[in-house]
Amino acid sequence: MVSLSDIRAFFRGSISINEPLAGYTSMRIGGPVDYFMEPADKDDLVSIVRYFRQNKFDFIMVGRGSNMLVSDDGFRGAAINLEEKFSDVRLEDGDVVAEAGAGLSKLVDFCIQHGKAGLEWAAGIPGTVGGAIVMNAGAHGGETADQLVEVEVLRGSEIVTVPKSSISFGYRRSGLESDIVLSGRFRLPEGDREEINQRRRTFIQQRNASQPVNMPNSGSIFKNPSGNYAARLIDAANLKGKRVGGAQISEKHANFIVNTGNATASDVLTLIDLARRTVYQNAGILLELEIRLVGFPNDVREKVA
Ligand SMILES: Cc1cc2nc3c(=O)[nH]c(=O)nc-3n(C[C@H](O)[C@H](O)[C@H](O)COP(=O)(O)OP(=O)(O)OC[C@H]3O[C@@H](n4cnc5c(N)ncnc54)[C@H](O)[C@@H]3O)c2cc1C
Repeated sequence: MVSLSDIRAFFRGSISINEPLAGYTSMRIGGPVDYFMEPADKDDLVSIVRYFRQNKFDFIMVGRGSNMLVSDDGFRGAAINLEEKFSDVRLEDGDVVAEAGAGLSKLVDFCIQHGKAGLEWAAGIPGTVGGAIVMNAGAHGGETADQLVEVEVLRGSEIVTVPKSSISFGYRRSGLESDIVLSGRFRLPEGDREEINQRRRTFIQQRNASQPVNMPNSGSIFKNPSGNYAARLIDAANLKGKRVGGAQISEKHANFIVNTGNATASDVLTLIDLARRTVYQNAGILLELEIRLVGFPNDVREKVA
């Protein structure tokens, strides 16, 4: 364990001790993290990351926690969040540059205000730009990598700008998992504001109609297998509505698990395991997790990931 007084000697951002991560995930599930930290600026971030790496102290990046399941025991280490000080979205030489802590909704709003088209698919996805770049989030036929030109990352202890051509983006992955994403530069065509706004509205309406948006969840639990849909497979396995403790496979969208009020991570994991086993027995397809597991021991991760 690194010492809090040592950290406080140089870290200028905010630190909360034993902060329950449930408050920082869209599932509203997760035990405490030793230190929840919001760096004051890039130098502060570089210093703390260097210190953690030198001292072999575990840390994770947390955006809006909308694509993760955090263990009931929490995470031994630090969680670093960039929403407070790294959330600027601006125009630079005609490109839209968005910092990692900015919400996707802020990015989409900014694009509409400035008549920049192409990111409307992200409307209604409750994550940050950093989380979307690392996950290569996507919807409605678009994905984050499409209009990205370059990404600024903290790699090792250096801040570097990586062109998209050097990043191995794929379906819900980026190869940036060992980096800390600081910002992304998007090159977007000009578009008619009203038309862009209309597309955003349509996408949000479609989400509201098909997803359990009024209950805590973490989006799609599994990736869609090639040529198929995880939701269709789980539905065909008769698991829609299946409950374990406070967790339930959504009646509205079978690839979502909702927290009906008092779900634990363990309830969710049991449903994940059940869905994987049943779909495999029924259809011979092994579903792969889309959400990231945080704070679970290796044997648990290996069972479901
Ligand atoms: C209702 C709902 C609908 C959703 N719909 C979609 C959808 O249509 N398409 C889709 O792709 N996803 C969807 N998601 C999932 C999720 O919103 C996206 O994956 C989102 O981009 C994750 O962003 P986040 O900030 O919440 O990331 P988090 O969940 O906080 O983190 C996700 C991963 O990224 C890492 N990470 C976060 N920030 C950084 C950073 N700055 N640097 C390095 N690593 C970082 C984390 O460590 C973690 O491994 C949905 C989720 C919900 C709840």
